[in-house]
Parts: sequence; structure tokens; C-alpha cells
Amino acid sequence: VLDFLNYLPYSKHSHVFTAIPNVFFQNLKPRGALKPIDFENVPDDLDHFGAGKIQDFTWKDILDAYTCTECGRCTDNCPAWHTEKPLSPREIVVKLRHYTSSEGKELANGGSVNGRQASTIPGPEWVTEDELWACTSCNACVEQCPLFIDQMGKIMEMRRFLTLEGRLTGTAVKTLQKLQTQGNPWGFSESDRAKWLSGYEGLNVIGENGIEDASAFDYIYWMGCYGGYDPRGQKIAQSVVSLLTQAGVNFAVLGPMESCTGDPARRLGEEALYQMLATQNIETLNGLKVKKVIANCPHCFNTIKNEYPQFGGNYEVINHTQLLNELVKQGRLKPTKEINQGVAYHDPCYLGRYNRVFDEPRELLQSIPGLRLIELDRKRERSFCCVAGGGKIWMEEEAPRVNWNRFEEVESKNPDTLAVACYFCDTMFEDASKHAGNDKMEIKDISVILRESVEADKS
Ligand code: SF4
Ligand code: SF4
Repeated sequence: VLDFLNYLPYSKHSHVFTAIPNVFFQNLKPRGALKPIDFENVPDDLDHFGAGKIQDFTWKDILDAYTCTECGRCTDNCPAWHTEKPLSPREIVVKLRHYTSSEGKELANGGSVNGRQASTIPGPEWVTEDELWACTSCNACVEQCPLFIDQMGKIMEMRRFLTLEGRLTGTAVKTLQKLQTQGNPWGFSESDRAKWLSGYEGLNVIGENGIEDASAFDYIYWMGCYGGYDPRGQKIAQSVVSLLTQAGVNFAVLGPMESCTGDPARRLGEEALYQMLATQNIETLNGLKVKKVIANCPHCFNTIKNEYPQFGGNYEVINHTQLLNELVKQGRLKPTKEINQGVAYHDPCYLGRYNRVFDEPRELLQSIPGLRLIELDRKRERSFCCVAGGGKIWMEEEAPRVNWNRFEEVESKNPDTLAVACYFCDTMFEDASKHAGNDKMEIKDISVILRESVEADKS
């Protein structure tokens, strides 16, 4: 019995003691908000940021590590694991437990472990960099864990350590540089953002035609970088603008005053750049007296809604599927043209799993006459990522790719159209359809589909 009690803290059976406190102390804050680094109050002796060593993890991280039963539910739902990447969220937690048991002695021994310097957890001995960069931040692991363990949060903290040590490499580094200099991930000129707005007569653009701020409008429509620059994204943003206008919504757009929200920088571990972009945007929004924001990009939606309050940006934020659904219910938008198609819906991670917007996109699709909604097997809370989140859209991915895996599932249901509600998903599935050689199935944002049904009524 004594032997077993000695062995317990080092084994997966440690949850016998830790499971109940871990459930009690589960994170009740918004799912989509990463913890900020307080750069204003950095201790003089701090030589790194993020989680590199045992003392950088919170007591809850360590409790998580000793609570894991190694059931594997997180890994079973991990898109990286499902596509042969080196990442298993269960292993991340188990390695943290073993690391704590081994290198935790550093705390008591003034920096050394058995006469040597303690190693960092991100590194070849414990959690490799390839594991950490494989994560899409989809949060499926956290969602599935019966003991409320936050695997993804630990991965993000270790990414911060790597990036702020200058250990991020490859294409994502260039993306971060472009975000820093131009405020968008491609490095396009800031003045070229949302140039398509000039073709829209009667649209209220802040800073033009004597419109000085947002005080006369109910909403600001935040279209995001894809809506501003990318041809497919522009089509989606134009659909949103058209539908809001037809419904008589009192809104304005920011045009070139928008900048990247900073989401990719934050999830690639570049917290300083994230905070720079976030505070610039918050200064703009607060200066313009913005109260309510419509955001169709789930990443912008999540960041403005859940993360900007950390820096004084407090707004009522609504996704386009939520508002458009409400407008249809109120009779302000009337989808009348029949769309006699089978349409599959893919839940974006940052809209569904993170922010619980599951029903509105479905109700909206079902409001279109003739449309037959097709549910995918992995749906709602268990939706399977498109791979683009967590900054992964700006990184090279080895085959087999996550978006291919999801697209195969979509194809197995044989829909005419795949409906999405995210620029990233739209891009990744367009890419996957080309890879699959599928030129029959269309990929469209819900707003584009709705516009086809509503605008037909007007013609
Ligand atoms: S957040 Fe998603 S990709 Fe990352 S470890 Fe969890 S399940 Fe895997
Ligand atoms: S789901 Fe939770 S308890 Fe199960 S292996 Fe993953 S982290 Fe451990």
C-alpha cells in the first residue's frame, strides 16, 4: 500500500486526488480569450516570456497535469493527430506531468536538477517544437476532456516562449512582419484596404462625406482583412453589406481605418505584436464611439468580443449569421427564391465551439425555400477543424492535410454546396476541393447563399 502511495503522484492514477479540485477550479472565463502578458510590469529578473520552465506554468496547469487520466478523448478529437502530425494533446499533458516530476526540483534547488541546469519543456527532451506548431487552436481537446483540462492553453503558452525567444521560423515569420508594418497578413498597402467600397453608392464610410464617428449608427460592420483585400473574401463582405442595406440596418463601415485584429499574431505566440494591433484598433473604435460591432469573420468576432475587453475595448459584438437570422425572423429580409440543393454546413471552430453559435447558421439556411440542410457527422461541439486557426493558415502544412480530411467527410455526404461562415474555412475548403478535383460542389459563405435567395425577390 505504501509503495502505491509513493508511486501515485508520478502515475496516471494521481487523478484520484486531483480530479475533484480540478473540476471545481475549471476555467469559467470566455473560452476564446487567451491570457495577456503584462508587459508594463515585467520583473527585473525575468529572462523570458511564456512557458519555458516549470515556474512559468500556473498552479492550475500543474493540477491539470496530475489530473489527466490518459483517457485519450482529447487526442481522439485532435485534427493534428488525425492527420499524422506529431501532436497529441494527451501527450502534452502527460509530458508536463513527467517534466514537473523531473525538473520541478529546480525550484527547491536554486536552479539546478541533480547538479545540472533544468531543461526547458519546449525542446527536444520534452515537448518538441513540431508538436507545438502543429496545433490549430481548434479547442476540440479542451471541449472533450471530461476533467476540464486546458491542453490548448498550455500549448499557446509554450508557443509564446518559442516565438518571443525568436524561435518561430518559416512563412509565419514573414506574415508577422507584414502585420507589423502594414496591418494585414499579405503586406498590401493600408490605403488599398476595402477599395471596393468606392463602387457602393450610399454606403456610410466613417471618415468620408463628413461622417466623423459612429455615434449616428447602430452598428459598425467589421469586414476583416479578407473582406478588405481577398477576392473571395470581398464577395462575402459585399453580400453582408448588401443584405444589411436591404434590411434597412443603420450601419457604417470603417474602410481603411480597420487593421488586423491581431488574432494570428497572438496565436502564433507574438503577444507583443498582438497587443500593439489590439490597442491601435481599440483606440480607433473607442475614438469613433463605437458601441456595437457586426463581425462575419469568427476570428475577428472572437477577438473583439472576448479579448479586446482585456485592453479596454468593450463592445456588443454580433456575428453576421446571428444578425441575418434575426432579420429574416423579423421579416426584414425575405428569402423567396427557391434553392433546390442539398447544402452541408461546416461549423467554424471560433464561431461554434468557442462561442456557441450553432443554431443561427442552421436556422438561416433552413429559412431558404427548397434548401435541404445536410448535417456532417462531426458537427457543432465536435466539428472538425479546417486547419486555418492558430495562425496555421500562414504556415506550410505537410500532407495529409487537415482540410483534405474534413473535405473527404463533406464529399461523403454528397452535397451540392458546402456552406461556411468563415473566410478561413472558405479558403481552406476551396483549396481542398481543388486538391480533390471536385469541380461540382460549390463552397459558399452563408451570406452569399442567402443573398442569392433574397435578391432574386427584388429582380
Ligand atoms: S487545440 Fe485542436 S489542434 Fe490543438 S491540440 Fe487541441 S485538438 Fe489538437
Ligand atoms: S481528455 Fe483530459 S483526461 Fe483524457 S487524456 Fe485528454 S487531457 Fe487527459
